[in-house]
Amino acid sequence: MTALFGPSGNSQSFYDEGHKSTTEAPEWLKKRGLDAFEYSFGRGVRIREGTAREIGNAFVKEGITLSVHAPYYINLASTDEKKKKNTIRYFTESVTAAHWMGATRVIFHPGAVGKEERETAFGRALEFFSEIIHEVESLGYEEVRLCPETLGKINQLGSVEEVLRLCSLNRNVIPAIDFGHLHARTVGGIKSKDDYKRILDMMEEGLADERARKFHVHFSHIEYTKQGEKKHCDFKDEGFGPDFEPFAELMVERNLGPTIICESPTMMAEDARTMKDIYLKIKKAV
Ligand SMILES: [Zn+2]
Repeated sequence: MTALFGPSGNSQSFYDEGHKSTTEAPEWLKKRGLDAFEYSFGRGVRIREGTAREIGNAFVKEGITLSVHAPYYINLASTDEKKKKNTIRYFTESVTAAHWMGATRVIFHPGAVGKEERETAFGRALEFFSEIIHEVESLGYEEVRLCPETLGKINQLGSVEEVLRLCSLNRNVIPAIDFGHLHARTVGGIKSKDDYKRILDMMEEGLADERARKFHVHFSHIEYTKQGEKKHCDFKDEGFGPDFEPFAELMVERNLGPTIICESPTMMAEDARTMKDIYLKIKKAV
């Protein structure tokens, strides 16, 4: 299997070179040897069908795999009826836009624990998510998969265990493993190859199918406090982790084919390319 690499959004250099529209991104990425792109609807799904299809066609033309990120406001554990309604809408709008764009994965943040017991909040999130799966299925866009993401703050729902439990509801739900976030929520817990191994083993045990090999990944270096995530960093910013190399070794050893999206704040395409180079070098050596 082969891993795919690409940025979330456009690098600063893309704009510095005079590009303005994401329809110009596929050709730019292709020239840099990248394979994937994540389009963010983090602040809301505001795109017309015509624009979405135009962007989608440009990516298809260059053979770049597209995913989208759903709005950050999603909270599966909410008890507020209005917020729950909005959450359903964020999902249906994201999935519809993904369908227009030819994107097959919708990445989302599961939500927050709030003031309750973690398990109470999570139990409600599980229940609400199964409702949402039905809602989304009724749209009929079967090619689009929902991907719950591991989150960086301890008081957010999104440990590996929680993401795997959300995935266990339906075999079309694919895990989005954000290693930077896991590093932050474990206060620097991803140090060695064994730390990556443990996460991959949990996925293998929890899913026992293709999803444990062709999952979604967000990878960037991260700054954290004792509550977890503070902010994402570019690779050039020194002193932050986690280190990509042990994960790349495991991808090759275990024949994994994830899509790896880099969320560096300004050099996401450059850092994605750096990871691809590390991965290809290891792959060539075996
Ligand atoms: Zn995210």
